[in-house]
Amino acid sequence: MPKAILLKGGRVVDPATGLDAVRDVLVEKGVIAAVGKGLGANGATVVDCDGLVVAPAFVDLHAHLREPGREDAETIESGSRAAAIGGYSALCAMANTSPVADSAAVVEQVFNTGRAVGLVDVYPVGALTVGLEGKHLAEMGEMHDSAAHVTFFSDDGRCVQDSGLMRRALEYARAFDAIVANHAEDAGLADGGAMNEGEVSGLLGLPGIPGEAEELIIARDLALAKLAGARLHVPHVSTANSVALIRAAKEAGVRVTAEATPHHLALTDTLVASFDPVFRVAPPLRTRADVDALRAGLIDGTIDCVATDHAPHAREDKEKEFDKAPPGMLGLETALGVLIAELVAPGLLNLTQLIDRMSTTPARIRGLVGHGGPVAAGAAATLVAFDPAARWVVDPTRLQSLSDNTPFAGRELQGKVVHTMLRGKFTVLDGEVVHGQR
Ligand SMILES: [Zn+2]
Repeated sequence: MPKAILLKGGRVVDPATGLDAVRDVLVEKGVIAAVGKGLGANGATVVDCDGLVVAPAFVDLHAHLREPGREDAETIESGSRAAAIGGYSALCAMANTSPVADSAAVVEQVFNTGRAVGLVDVYPVGALTVGLEGKHLAEMGEMHDSAAHVTFFSDDGRCVQDSGLMRRALEYARAFDAIVANHAEDAGLADGGAMNEGEVSGLLGLPGIPGEAEELIIARDLALAKLAGARLHVPHVSTANSVALIRAAKEAGVRVTAEATPHHLALTDTLVASFDPVFRVAPPLRTRADVDALRAGLIDGTIDCVATDHAPHAREDKEKEFDKAPPGMLGLETALGVLIAELVAPGLLNLTQLIDRMSTTPARIRGLVGHGGPVAAGAAATLVAFDPAARWVVDPTRLQSLSDNTPFAGRELQGKVVHTMLRGKFTVLDGEVVHGQR
């Protein structure tokens, strides 16, 4: 029988119980046996957590793992390593793989491979439409009834343009209370665009994508979610007007949740002046006013959670002219450091709110039991311990991801994961991924 583990002297921050105090956490047989002051070791392995924050491990509702199909850019194993080192215990893997995750066979393959790797729980997102083509609804019921038990559907990477089809997807999802997310981008308005349309695109002479391309689709989807009485999740919100639309819909009782990415919360379109394709992403980096509105939305809960939209790209694909490069940025390994540096250190968000937006709330949205806390006796020992003061500089060559397209290369971040634990087993110990889970 594996030995018990005593996480000693960490600052336990748990939004579920409201606890924010120095406590010891005793872990036995995969669950939390006790949370208290001055707990005795009684033969348990003692792990000193002095100076660390101990919290429920993070949950990412939005990641692209590229397997099956582009295992040169990322695999479920390498993406799982990146997630674990970032403090995550669960992630939702988007459906735009090759083949597309639009059938029971593919979602079960992704789910089972994730379990076999054993570093994070990988929950496949099912495609809304066959082949992401936006023409015919995928077999959502079949994916829901599969071993992967899919309750989250999206064509992410592509936007469902047909309003009638989007309505039917929402109505179908409502039958099993599933969530539908739509990559909000009006095809006509976004056509040919490579960056945010505005002052900077004008100066650089690059074709722009107006905020309205996102806002029109979000406004439509909010109306359709209301009509269908279904759950809508808005991914990677990027504009101030989108935040306002979601805020108003929530006040009107629409069943909507929303996420923002660390890069949209931290970076602006002025970075595109370098013409470095690492800064190309969909939706594009926007203006300082948009960043400020996203931050306000995250603070007041209009934006429910942070999701990474981790999007690895092989170097030969990404290193092209800016407007020819595929959109997407890495995110799993830098999310915590970006959010502490940009939001917690300046006093905009406290640690309880940070853990809520990265763990408790995304776990609740996806309906994940055993993730997102509570940090309390009897709950799954699925935890992260991080140093909130540690400063580190992002070196793309030292990431777990198989790709290196991080927009934070060379930046100093604050906050580093020291340990991650999934059901009582360390997946990361002293900053190193623990292998041999298979
Ligand atoms: Zn997307």
